[in-house]
Amino acid sequence: MIICSRCKGNGYVKVRFEAEQAIEQCKVCHSQGEINEDKYYHQTWTEGAEDSIAIYYGPPLDPESFKNYTISGE
Ligand SMILES: [Zn+2]
Repeated sequence: MIICSRCKGNGYVKVRFEAEQAIEQCKVCHSQGEINEDKYYHQTWTEGAEDSIAIYYGPPLDPESFKNYTISGE
């Protein structure tokens, strides 16, 4: 298991909706704070001088290695 990069291991994320802030359970790790290296997840990052968006569906990547990395669920 590795730390979920969406919620940073907390199991929830703070979301801002207009002026209000709310707590939302993390959909990526199902509030576990960890994700499974054997599962496939939707991930994106940006690359190149144009910051073009790369989309990837597969086992979780190392967030440190990618610019603007996001993970958005199974
Ligand atoms: Zn999470």
